[in-house]
Amino acid sequence: MKVGVLALQGDVREHISALIACGVYPTSIRRPSELAAVDALVIPGGESTTIAHLAQIFGLFQPIRARIAAGMPVYGSCAGMILLADEILDAKAGQETFGGLDITVRRNAFGRQVDSFESDINFADGSDTPIRAVFIRAPWVEKIGKDIEVLAEIDSHPVAVRSKRILATSFHPELTGDHRIHRYFIEEVARTALQKVE
Ligand code: GLN
Repeated sequence: MKVGVLALQGDVREHISALIACGVYPTSIRRPSELAAVDALVIPGGESTTIAHLAQIFGLFQPIRARIAAGMPVYGSCAGMILLADEILDAKAGQETFGGLDITVRRNAFGRQVDSFESDINFADGSDTPIRAVFIRAPWVEKIGKDIEVLAEIDSHPVAVRSKRILATSFHPELTGDHRIHRYFIEEVARTALQKVE
């Protein structure tokens, strides 16, 4: 399985290291031809408006949207979650997303940069050990569609959700050195989705 990391802005390097720790050797994606060569994509945390803007400039916006619509497995953390949501609240005027995940997210839901925090949360991957979650101007999920599974929440706000092929977290597992979420994406989401297609 070839996995790409969208490498326009944000914590690209940290996602690449986390994926390598899970045994996959990811490619950095900056052009449509690079996107066409991967089976699955990771969209890093950063700034969703900047990533969307750069994706337009690099000619990647429509190709990514089309690949997701065609069933490519994707994982997005924080800004990546926003970019995967079908609907955003508190969006910047005219802000567009790649979409594909039937959720409504609220940007900067936990407050401003100074309100960033860390917390141990339960993640529904079958393990009893809580996961350290880092929230940096994070979104939360305000509404979910009927085929969305909630994998983690804080104060009854979902902060990790999935559909069949798409995983999204409000927090940044790429920053903690704990690779459970990346492993979950590779093993439970991407590999499973791709096996069904083969
Ligand atoms: N608040 C940022 C946005 O709207 C996301 C922050 C992050 O990815 N850490 O894109």
